[in-house]
Amino acid sequence: MIYLDYNATTPLCDAARDAMLPFLGPYFGNPSSVHAAGREARAGIDDARDKLAELLHAKPSEIIFTSGATESCNLGVLGLARSQSAGGLPAVASAKAGHIISNKAEHHAVLSAVEHLEDREGFEVTWLNVSENGIIDLDQLADSIRPDTKLVSIMTANNETGVIQPMREISRICRERGVLLHTDIVQAFGKLEIDVSLVDAGSFAAHKFYGPKGTGFLFLRSGLSIQPIMFGGAHENQRRPGTENVAGVAGMAAAAEWVLRDADAERQREAPLRDELWKRVAKAFPAAEQNGDPAHRLANTLNTSFIGVDSETMLMALDLEGVCASSGSACMVGSVRVSHVLLDMGLPMESARSAIRFSLGRRTTAEEIADAADALERIATRTKDAREYVLA
Ligand code: PLP
Repeated sequence: MIYLDYNATTPLCDAARDAMLPFLGPYFGNPSSVHAAGREARAGIDDARDKLAELLHAKPSEIIFTSGATESCNLGVLGLARSQSAGGLPAVASAKAGHIISNKAEHHAVLSAVEHLEDREGFEVTWLNVSENGIIDLDQLADSIRPDTKLVSIMTANNETGVIQPMREISRICRERGVLLHTDIVQAFGKLEIDVSLVDAGSFAAHKFYGPKGTGFLFLRSGLSIQPIMFGGAHENQRRPGTENVAGVAGMAAAAEWVLRDADAERQREAPLRDELWKRVAKAFPAAEQNGDPAHRLANTLNTSFIGVDSETMLMALDLEGVCASSGSACMVGSVRVSHVLLDMGLPMESARSAIRFSLGRRTTAEEIADAADALERIATRTKDAREYVLA
Protein backbone atom coordinates (compact mmCIF):
# COMPACT_ATOMS: atom_id res chain seq x y z
CA MET A 1 0.00 0.00 0.00
CA ILE A 2 1.23 3.49 -0.85
CA TYR A 3 -0.27 5.97 1.59
CA LEU A 4 -0.51 9.46 0.11
CA ASP A 5 -3.26 10.84 2.33
CA TYR A 6 -1.38 12.41 5.23
CA ASN A 7 -3.69 15.44 5.24
CA ALA A 8 -6.53 13.08 6.20
CA THR A 9 -4.58 11.54 9.05
CA THR A 10 -1.07 10.45 9.99
CA PRO A 11 0.26 7.29 11.62
CA LEU A 12 1.03 7.50 15.34
CA CYS A 13 4.74 8.21 15.93
CA ASP A 14 6.69 6.08 18.40
CA ALA A 15 7.25 9.04 20.73
CA ALA A 16 3.48 9.54 21.03
CA ARG A 17 2.80 5.83 21.60
CA ASP A 18 5.46 5.64 24.33
CA ALA A 19 4.08 8.71 26.05
CA MET A 20 0.55 7.29 26.02
CA LEU A 21 1.23 3.80 27.32
CA PRO A 22 1.60 4.65 31.04
CA PHE A 23 -1.83 6.32 30.97
CA LEU A 24 -3.40 3.30 29.30
CA GLY A 25 -1.89 1.14 32.04
CA PRO A 26 -0.74 2.01 35.54
CA TYR A 27 -1.67 5.71 35.56
CA PHE A 28 -5.38 5.28 34.98
CA GLY A 29 -6.68 7.78 37.53
CA ASN A 30 -9.13 10.57 36.90
CA PRO A 31 -7.10 13.78 36.80
CA SER A 32 -9.79 15.59 38.81
CA SER A 33 -9.52 13.15 41.75
CA VAL A 34 -7.57 14.45 44.72
CA HIS A 35 -6.02 11.10 45.71
CA ALA A 36 -2.66 9.71 44.56
CA ALA A 37 -4.06 7.97 41.45
CA GLY A 38 -5.70 11.21 40.39
CA ARG A 39 -2.53 13.17 41.01
CA GLU A 40 -0.55 10.84 38.73
CA ALA A 41 -2.99 11.48 35.90
CA ARG A 42 -3.07 15.21 36.66
CA ALA A 43 0.73 15.29 36.36
CA GLY A 44 0.40 13.80 32.85
CA ILE A 45 -2.02 16.56 31.85
CA ASP A 46 0.08 19.31 33.42
CA ASP A 47 3.29 18.07 31.78
CA ALA A 48 1.61 17.90 28.37
CA ARG A 49 0.18 21.41 28.76
CA ASP A 50 3.58 22.80 29.80
CA LYS A 51 5.31 21.10 26.89
CA LEU A 52 2.79 22.34 24.29
CA ALA A 53 2.95 25.85 25.72
CA GLU A 54 6.73 25.82 25.56
CA LEU A 55 6.74 24.58 21.97
CA LEU A 56 4.30 27.32 20.94
CA HIS A 57 5.95 30.03 23.06
CA ALA A 58 2.62 30.39 24.82
CA LYS A 59 1.44 30.16 28.42
CA PRO A 60 0.12 26.87 29.80
CA SER A 61 -3.17 28.60 30.69
CA GLU A 62 -3.59 29.47 26.99
CA ILE A 63 -4.01 25.77 26.05
CA ILE A 64 -7.54 24.32 26.24
CA PHE A 65 -7.68 20.57 25.62
CA THR A 66 -10.52 19.35 23.40
CA SER A 67 -11.58 16.23 21.51
CA GLY A 68 -9.97 17.42 18.27
CA ALA A 69 -10.01 20.08 15.61
CA THR A 70 -13.73 20.11 15.00
CA GLU A 71 -14.40 20.87 18.64
CA SER A 72 -11.53 23.38 18.80
CA CYS A 73 -12.83 25.24 15.74
CA ASN A 74 -16.38 25.19 17.10
CA LEU A 75 -15.21 26.46 20.48
CA GLY A 76 -13.03 29.14 18.87
CA VAL A 77 -15.70 30.40 16.49
CA LEU A 78 -18.91 29.96 18.50
CA GLY A 79 -17.31 30.66 21.88
CA LEU A 80 -15.54 33.87 20.85
CA ALA A 81 -18.36 35.23 18.67
CA ARG A 82 -20.92 34.66 21.41
CA SER A 83 -18.77 36.09 24.17
CA GLN A 84 -18.12 39.22 22.08
CA SER A 85 -21.74 39.64 21.10
CA ALA A 86 -23.98 41.99 23.03
CA GLY A 87 -26.67 39.33 22.90
CA GLY A 88 -24.47 36.84 24.71
CA LEU A 89 -26.07 33.43 24.74
CA PRO A 90 -27.27 32.01 21.44
CA ALA A 91 -30.81 31.69 22.77
CA VAL A 92 -30.97 35.49 22.50
CA ALA A 93 -31.05 35.38 18.72
CA SER A 94 -31.18 39.09 18.07
CA ALA A 95 -30.77 40.59 14.62
CA LYS A 96 -27.87 42.61 16.00
CA ALA A 97 -25.73 39.81 17.34
CA GLY A 98 -22.75 41.20 15.43
CA HIS A 99 -20.66 40.70 12.34
CA ILE A 100 -18.20 37.93 11.42
CA ILE A 101 -15.75 37.63 8.54
CA SER A 102 -14.68 34.30 7.06
CA ASN A 103 -14.51 32.59 3.66
CA LYS A 104 -16.19 29.66 1.99
CA ALA A 105 -12.95 27.73 1.45
CA GLU A 106 -12.67 26.88 5.17
CA HIS A 107 -12.95 23.32 6.44
CA HIS A 108 -16.52 22.49 7.48
CA ALA A 109 -15.44 22.63 11.14
CA VAL A 110 -15.30 26.43 10.75
CA LEU A 111 -17.60 26.87 7.75
CA SER A 112 -20.60 25.14 9.34
CA ALA A 113 -20.03 26.88 12.69
CA VAL A 114 -20.03 30.31 11.01
CA GLU A 115 -23.06 29.35 8.91
CA HIS A 116 -24.83 28.32 12.11
CA LEU A 117 -24.17 31.76 13.63
CA GLU A 118 -25.45 33.36 10.41
CA ASP A 119 -28.55 31.20 10.01
CA ARG A 120 -29.61 30.68 13.63
CA GLU A 121 -28.09 33.31 15.89
CA GLY A 122 -28.51 36.61 14.10
CA PHE A 123 -24.91 37.22 13.09
CA GLU A 124 -24.21 38.89 9.78
CA VAL A 125 -21.34 37.29 7.85
CA THR A 126 -19.08 38.70 5.16
CA TRP A 127 -17.71 35.82 3.09
CA LEU A 128 -14.43 36.97 1.60
CA ASN A 129 -13.58 36.27 -2.02
CA VAL A 130 -10.84 33.76 -2.68
CA SER A 131 -8.68 34.12 -5.78
CA GLU A 132 -8.30 31.37 -8.36
CA ASN A 133 -5.08 30.51 -6.51
CA GLY A 134 -6.94 30.10 -3.22
CA ILE A 135 -5.67 33.23 -1.44
CA ILE A 136 -8.13 35.54 0.31
CA ASP A 137 -8.52 39.15 -0.76
CA LEU A 138 -6.68 41.27 1.85
CA ASP A 139 -8.15 44.58 0.65
CA GLN A 140 -11.62 43.14 0.96
CA LEU A 141 -10.78 41.92 4.47
CA ALA A 142 -9.63 45.40 5.51
CA ASP A 143 -12.66 47.07 3.90
CA SER A 144 -15.12 44.59 5.43
CA ILE A 145 -14.21 45.22 9.08
CA ARG A 146 -16.93 47.28 10.79
CA PRO A 147 -17.40 48.64 14.30
CA ASP A 148 -19.60 45.65 15.13
CA THR A 149 -17.21 42.99 13.72
CA LYS A 150 -16.74 40.42 16.48
CA LEU A 151 -14.50 37.86 14.85
CA VAL A 152 -12.44 37.03 11.77
CA SER A 153 -11.79 33.32 11.12
CA ILE A 154 -9.33 32.37 8.37
CA MET A 155 -7.44 29.10 8.14
CA THR A 156 -3.64 29.10 8.03
CA ALA A 157 -3.36 26.36 5.37
CA ASN A 158 -6.06 24.65 3.37
CA ASN A 159 -6.51 20.90 3.81
CA GLU A 160 -7.47 20.25 0.17
CA THR A 161 -5.07 22.47 -1.76
CA GLY A 162 -2.38 23.16 0.84
CA VAL A 163 -2.69 26.89 0.05
CA ILE A 164 -1.15 29.04 2.79
CA GLN A 165 -2.85 32.30 3.71
CA PRO A 166 -0.83 35.45 4.46
CA MET A 167 -1.40 35.23 8.23
CA ARG A 168 1.03 38.03 9.09
CA GLU A 169 -0.90 40.54 6.97
CA ILE A 170 -4.24 39.17 8.11
CA SER A 171 -3.11 39.55 11.72
CA ARG A 172 -1.88 43.10 11.13
CA ILE A 173 -5.21 44.13 9.59
CA CYS A 174 -7.18 42.60 12.47
CA ARG A 175 -4.89 44.04 15.16
CA GLU A 176 -4.95 47.55 13.67
CA ARG A 177 -8.72 47.47 13.78
CA GLY A 178 -9.02 45.73 17.14
CA VAL A 179 -10.84 42.65 15.85
CA LEU A 180 -10.32 39.12 17.19
CA LEU A 181 -8.75 36.55 14.86
CA HIS A 182 -9.23 32.78 15.01
CA THR A 183 -7.31 30.49 12.69
CA ASP A 184 -7.61 26.80 11.91
CA ILE A 185 -3.93 25.74 12.13
CA VAL A 186 -4.68 22.03 11.79
CA GLN A 187 -2.88 21.43 8.50
CA ALA A 188 -0.05 23.87 9.11
CA PHE A 189 1.27 22.64 12.45
CA GLY A 190 4.42 20.57 11.98
CA LYS A 191 4.62 21.61 8.33
CA LEU A 192 5.09 25.39 8.64
CA GLU A 193 6.55 27.76 11.19
CA ILE A 194 3.67 28.71 13.45
CA ASP A 195 3.48 31.96 15.38
CA VAL A 196 0.46 31.91 17.66
CA SER A 197 1.22 35.44 18.83
CA LEU A 198 -0.31 36.56 15.50
CA VAL A 199 -3.76 35.32 16.48
CA ASP A 200 -6.18 35.35 19.37
CA ALA A 201 -7.21 31.73 18.98
CA GLY A 202 -5.93 28.75 17.01
CA SER A 203 -7.25 25.21 16.53
CA PHE A 204 -5.08 22.07 16.51
CA ALA A 205 -5.66 18.31 16.04
CA ALA A 206 -3.12 15.72 17.22
CA HIS A 207 -3.82 13.14 14.52
CA LYS A 208 -2.68 15.50 11.78
CA PHE A 209 0.81 15.63 13.30
CA TYR A 210 1.43 11.96 14.16
CA GLY A 211 -0.46 12.03 17.45
CA PRO A 212 -3.61 10.13 18.42
CA LYS A 213 -7.10 10.71 17.04
CA GLY A 214 -9.81 12.30 19.18
CA THR A 215 -7.47 14.81 20.82
CA GLY A 216 -6.74 18.43 20.10
CA PHE A 217 -6.54 21.84 21.67
CA LEU A 218 -7.51 25.43 21.26
CA PHE A 219 -4.89 28.10 21.85
CA LEU A 220 -6.70 31.07 23.43
CA ARG A 221 -4.76 34.23 24.13
CA SER A 222 -4.63 35.19 27.83
CA GLY A 223 -7.19 37.66 29.00
CA LEU A 224 -9.83 36.65 26.46
CA SER A 225 -13.07 35.28 27.73
CA ILE A 226 -14.83 32.56 25.80
CA GLN A 227 -18.27 31.07 26.21
CA PRO A 228 -18.11 27.29 26.60
CA ILE A 229 -20.05 25.33 24.01
CA MET A 230 -20.63 22.38 26.36
CA PHE A 231 -21.79 22.37 29.96
CA GLY A 232 -20.68 20.19 32.82
CA GLY A 233 -17.74 20.25 35.21
CA ALA A 234 -15.24 23.04 35.76
CA HIS A 235 -12.42 21.41 33.74
CA GLU A 236 -9.97 23.42 31.67
CA ASN A 237 -10.56 26.51 33.77
CA GLN A 238 -14.31 26.37 33.18
CA ARG A 239 -13.83 26.62 29.44
CA ARG A 240 -14.28 22.98 28.40
CA PRO A 241 -16.03 20.48 30.65
CA GLY A 242 -15.40 16.74 30.69
CA THR A 243 -12.74 14.38 32.02
CA GLU A 244 -9.59 14.91 29.98
CA ASN A 245 -8.31 12.26 27.56
CA VAL A 246 -5.11 11.82 29.56
CA ALA A 247 -3.35 9.32 27.27
CA GLY A 248 -4.38 11.31 24.21
CA VAL A 249 -3.12 14.57 25.63
CA ALA A 250 0.21 12.99 26.64
CA GLY A 251 0.58 11.48 23.16
CA MET A 252 -0.29 14.79 21.51
CA ALA A 253 2.40 16.71 23.38
CA ALA A 254 5.02 14.06 22.58
CA ALA A 255 3.99 14.08 18.91
CA ALA A 256 4.20 17.88 18.77
CA GLU A 257 7.73 17.80 20.14
CA TRP A 258 8.69 15.04 17.70
CA VAL A 259 7.18 16.66 14.60
CA LEU A 260 8.74 20.05 15.24
CA ARG A 261 12.20 18.65 15.80
CA ASP A 262 13.07 18.34 12.11
CA ALA A 263 10.15 20.03 10.41
CA ASP A 264 12.41 22.18 8.22
CA ALA A 265 14.41 19.25 6.86
CA GLU A 266 11.20 17.32 6.25
CA ARG A 267 9.71 20.19 4.29
CA GLN A 268 12.78 20.24 2.08
CA ARG A 269 12.60 16.48 1.61
CA GLU A 270 8.88 16.36 0.76
CA ALA A 271 8.63 19.31 -1.68
CA PRO A 272 10.80 17.72 -4.43
CA LEU A 273 8.96 14.39 -4.03
CA ARG A 274 5.64 16.23 -4.43
CA ASP A 275 6.98 18.07 -7.50
CA GLU A 276 8.28 14.86 -9.03
CA LEU A 277 4.82 13.33 -8.65
CA TRP A 278 3.28 16.34 -10.42
CA LYS A 279 5.83 16.07 -13.25
CA ARG A 280 4.87 12.44 -13.81
CA VAL A 281 1.13 13.24 -13.53
CA ALA A 282 1.45 16.00 -16.14
CA LYS A 283 3.28 13.61 -18.47
CA ALA A 284 0.73 10.82 -18.13
CA PHE A 285 -2.29 13.16 -18.23
CA PRO A 286 -1.41 16.14 -20.47
CA ALA A 287 -4.74 17.82 -19.66
CA ALA A 288 -4.15 17.65 -15.88
CA GLU A 289 -4.11 20.89 -13.89
CA GLN A 290 -2.47 21.75 -10.60
CA ASN A 291 -4.79 23.56 -8.18
CA GLY A 292 -3.78 26.18 -5.61
CA ASP A 293 -1.02 28.76 -5.53
CA PRO A 294 2.22 26.85 -6.26
CA ALA A 295 4.29 29.55 -4.50
CA HIS A 296 2.23 29.52 -1.29
CA ARG A 297 1.47 25.89 -0.65
CA LEU A 298 2.32 23.24 1.93
CA ALA A 299 5.35 21.24 0.80
CA ASN A 300 3.45 17.97 1.13
CA THR A 301 0.27 18.71 -0.83
CA LEU A 302 -0.56 18.24 -4.51
CA ASN A 303 -4.11 18.88 -5.67
CA THR A 304 -4.60 18.02 -9.30
CA SER A 305 -7.59 17.89 -11.64
CA PHE A 306 -7.52 14.92 -14.00
CA ILE A 307 -9.71 16.61 -16.60
CA GLY A 308 -11.98 14.02 -18.21
CA VAL A 309 -11.74 11.46 -15.37
CA ASP A 310 -14.05 12.09 -12.43
CA SER A 311 -12.62 11.93 -8.89
CA GLU A 312 -14.53 8.84 -7.84
CA THR A 313 -13.34 6.79 -10.84
CA MET A 314 -9.75 7.94 -10.29
CA LEU A 315 -9.86 7.20 -6.55
CA MET A 316 -11.13 3.68 -7.21
CA ALA A 317 -8.52 3.10 -9.90
CA LEU A 318 -5.80 4.30 -7.53
CA ASP A 319 -7.16 2.15 -4.74
CA LEU A 320 -7.03 -0.92 -7.00
CA GLU A 321 -3.37 -0.04 -7.65
CA GLY A 322 -2.78 0.15 -3.88
CA VAL A 323 -2.49 3.96 -3.77
CA CYS A 324 -4.42 5.80 -1.04
CA ALA A 325 -5.30 9.37 -2.04
CA SER A 326 -8.31 11.55 -1.53
CA SER A 327 -10.70 13.72 -3.47
CA GLY A 328 -10.32 16.53 -0.97
CA SER A 329 -12.01 16.46 2.37
CA ALA A 330 -12.19 12.97 3.87
CA CYS A 331 -14.61 14.33 6.44
CA MET A 332 -17.52 13.68 4.12
CA VAL A 333 -17.68 10.19 5.63
CA GLY A 334 -16.82 7.93 2.76
CA SER A 335 -18.67 9.90 0.15
CA VAL A 336 -17.04 11.72 -2.72
CA ARG A 337 -18.46 15.21 -3.10
CA VAL A 338 -17.45 17.97 -5.43
CA SER A 339 -15.02 20.16 -3.49
CA HIS A 340 -16.57 23.34 -2.10
CA VAL A 341 -13.02 24.71 -1.80
CA LEU A 342 -12.24 24.41 -5.51
CA LEU A 343 -15.64 25.75 -6.51
CA ASP A 344 -15.11 28.73 -4.20
CA MET A 345 -11.79 29.39 -5.96
CA GLY A 346 -13.86 29.75 -9.14
CA LEU A 347 -12.63 26.58 -10.81
CA PRO A 348 -14.95 25.21 -13.51
CA MET A 349 -17.13 22.26 -12.47
CA GLU A 350 -15.10 19.99 -14.77
CA SER A 351 -11.93 20.79 -12.82
CA ALA A 352 -13.58 20.52 -9.41
CA ARG A 353 -15.20 17.15 -10.12
CA SER A 354 -12.00 15.58 -11.36
CA ALA A 355 -9.76 16.73 -8.49
CA ILE A 356 -7.55 14.42 -6.45
CA ARG A 357 -5.43 15.35 -3.44
CA PHE A 358 -2.12 13.60 -2.85
CA SER A 359 -0.54 14.44 0.50
CA LEU A 360 2.89 13.19 1.51
CA GLY A 361 4.35 12.59 4.95
CA ARG A 362 7.23 11.33 7.04
CA ARG A 363 7.13 7.79 5.67
CA THR A 364 6.79 8.73 2.01
CA THR A 365 9.81 7.59 0.01
CA ALA A 366 11.10 8.35 -3.49
CA GLU A 367 10.34 4.70 -4.41
CA GLU A 368 6.73 5.13 -3.35
CA ILE A 369 6.39 8.26 -5.48
CA ALA A 370 7.89 6.42 -8.46
CA ASP A 371 5.52 3.48 -7.90
CA ALA A 372 2.49 5.78 -7.54
CA ALA A 373 3.50 7.56 -10.76
CA ASP A 374 3.83 4.19 -12.56
CA ALA A 375 0.34 3.32 -11.33
CA LEU A 376 -0.97 6.63 -12.69
CA GLU A 377 0.62 5.89 -16.06
CA ARG A 378 -1.15 2.52 -16.17
CA ILE A 379 -4.43 4.22 -15.29
CA ALA A 380 -3.84 6.82 -18.02
CA THR A 381 -3.34 4.06 -20.61
CA ARG A 382 -6.44 2.19 -19.43
CA THR A 383 -8.67 5.29 -19.45
CA LYS A 384 -7.37 6.23 -22.92
CA ASP A 385 -8.02 2.69 -24.20
CA ALA A 386 -11.51 2.76 -22.66
CA ARG A 387 -12.26 6.09 -24.31
CA GLU A 388 -11.06 4.87 -27.70
CA TYR A 389 -13.16 1.71 -27.29
CA VAL A 390 -16.28 3.77 -26.52
CA LEU A 391 -15.63 6.08 -29.46
CA ALA A 392 -14.92 3.22 -31.88
N1 PLP B 1 -9.68 21.62 9.99
C1 PLP B 1 -8.91 21.14 9.00
C2 PLP B 1 -8.11 22.08 8.16
C3 PLP B 1 -8.88 19.77 8.74
O1 PLP B 1 -8.11 19.30 7.76
C4 PLP B 1 -9.67 18.90 9.55
C5 PLP B 1 -9.70 17.45 9.24
O2 PLP B 1 -9.56 17.05 8.12
C6 PLP B 1 -10.43 19.46 10.59
C7 PLP B 1 -10.42 20.83 10.77
C8 PLP B 1 -11.27 18.58 11.47
O3 PLP B 1 -10.46 17.69 12.17
P1 PLP B 1 -11.08 16.51 13.05
O4 PLP B 1 -11.92 15.70 12.10
O5 PLP B 1 -9.91 15.80 13.56
O6 PLP B 1 -11.91 17.11 14.12
